[in-house]
Amino acid sequence: MADPATGTSDRLFDRARAVIPGGVNSPVRAFRSVGGTPRFIAAGSGAHLTDVDGRRYVDYVCSWGPLILGHAHPQVVAAAKAAVDRGSSYGAPTQAEVELAEGIADRYPGAEMVRCVSSGTEAGMSAIRLARGATGRTKIVKFAGHYHGHSDALLVEAGSGVATFGLPDSPGVTARATADTVVAPWNDRAAVETVFAEWPDDVALVACEPVPANMGVIPPEPGYLEFLREITSRHGAMLLFDEVLTGFRVARGGVAELSGVTPDLAAFGKVVGGGYPLAAFAGPAAIMRQLAPEGPIYQAGTLSGNPVAVAAGLAQLRLLDDEAYKGLDARADRLIAGLTEAFAAHGVPAAIPRVRSLFSVFFSERGQDAPRDFDEARACDHQRYARFFNGMLARGHYLPPSGYEAMFVSLAHTDDDLDATIAAAHEVAAEVGTGPV
Ligand SMILES: *Cc1c(COP(=O)(O)O)cnc(C)c1O
Repeated sequence: MADPATGTSDRLFDRARAVIPGGVNSPVRAFRSVGGTPRFIAAGSGAHLTDVDGRRYVDYVCSWGPLILGHAHPQVVAAAKAAVDRGSSYGAPTQAEVELAEGIADRYPGAEMVRCVSSGTEAGMSAIRLARGATGRTKIVKFAGHYHGHSDALLVEAGSGVATFGLPDSPGVTARATADTVVAPWNDRAAVETVFAEWPDDVALVACEPVPANMGVIPPEPGYLEFLREITSRHGAMLLFDEVLTGFRVARGGVAELSGVTPDLAAFGKVVGGGYPLAAFAGPAAIMRQLAPEGPIYQAGTLSGNPVAVAAGLAQLRLLDDEAYKGLDARADRLIAGLTEAFAAHGVPAAIPRVRSLFSVFFSERGQDAPRDFDEARACDHQRYARFFNGMLARGHYLPPSGYEAMFVSLAHTDDDLDATIAAAHEVAAEVGTGPV
């Protein structure tokens, strides 16, 4: 019997699975790790989603981060519409691209020059090529559970959708493609020291999410980013902060501003595009000038710096002032306090690690002692997360459909939205079980 609550989504999902692998264009959307039918979305407005069955949800995914002002923010919509009316794409430079590059350079420490691309994957992969080309070295170091997009060299112990499905690597990524990728556990200094002891002059780049959020949120321990900065500098390797998720979200100047640690290269995506396909990477002029056409390191894109995406991204960035970040932090404060109380009231052992407005929920017998690395994130009770997710979804609260993802608040979330979510969490906490994992 069709469930009237999801009948239209169910039928669309059946059709989708016949013509799209898994029925979705990006794996985590399929709800595999939480079960049930993904909701097909008809519209988003402010903090709310409406699905094709007419059900409304308070949205804590926000397109996985880009919609920091909420869905269909009037000024972002107006900027995008005005750009559409001027034509979609020219294959030639525009003034708005200059303004966006200047805006990023103004906000982000050490970003003197910027190159726009269309996805975070492209930004990460291009930054690696640039680092290898500029240093003449081959090895890259990444951390287990950090996600830098789905390009071959980086798809090793890559968190996010890959972690969700427990794939150690992906078929189709050859051993040679990852032979120069070295993986270290996050927050582990000795492991990184060992890598540099083994290959003192071969590491082109150490890549990290400076606040990892694709294995759940696992902040760097105090001094860890400083340690990475020091050891890379000492060995002539570059440091990449992949701020695709954190950039323009945790602060105006991302984790670089919060931590005071300036990387050589930074990657952006998500918030920078205002919900449109836009990403970028940036760094000092001396490095960035080595890119084509000024230098020999090739990188290009037909739709790079797309005028509609740039217009939306710029409109969104311009609204993100100090007040905006205070507002986001206040929303996170309220929600985290409410969820913490809900779990405590019902004896559900949970940790909610957090950096500014970025946070995630881990259920484990360790209670409020949050995971320090990917292995500890994997050891959490992802079944319990699935029960929590489904209980919340049934009550109209759309959380990330995976226990390895961050929750996203936007400036469109009102106190009433947050309080309704907290009230629902009290009900659901009573159902998800309190026993040890
Ligand atoms: C989302 C994400 C990416 C990939 O960006 P896409 O636009 O999905 O290709 C890369 N790095 C981090 C840290 C991300 O969160």
